[in-house]
Amino acid sequence: MSNFTLTKPEASYLSEVYRIIEEGREPAVTLLASRFGVKLPTVIDVLEKLERKGLLVRERWRAPKLTRTGIRVASSILHRHRIIELYFSRKLGLAQQLACREAAKIDYILDDLVVARMCRELNHPDKCFHMKPINHTRCKR
Ligand SMILES: [Zn+2]
Ligand SMILES: [Zn+2]
Repeated sequence: MSNFTLTKPEASYLSEVYRIIEEGREPAVTLLASRFGVKLPTVIDVLEKLERKGLLVRERWRAPKLTRTGIRVASSILHRHRIIELYFSRKLGLAQQLACREAAKIDYILDDLVVARMCRELNHPDKCFHMKPINHTRCKR
């Protein structure tokens, strides 16, 4: 994560591409536009920025493909997101929707050490409350 400074939209789009792939679907530009409720040029603009940072490759008329670095960064953001929201809900008693929304505000900037401590407090759970897998490969234990 340290070599990358992502803006919030970049982090959201990158992790959404990863989520869609995790669901076994193609992260088509049209699908991203409908998930974010935006027009195609907005999606293309963010994808171009991610491509310039070497996180994905765009091909005309095709769904973008994550590079190895893109996969690493996206899975790290998702680990953070899922741990933070779970922590907010289990430890602070926040409703899931609020926990998810607030986690999205900080999941791409919170220090790894803080996330690792939250993860340890939760005993390194395998699934988030959306029942999505939590990958701890890059989690500092
Ligand atoms: Zn969430
Ligand atoms: Zn972890």
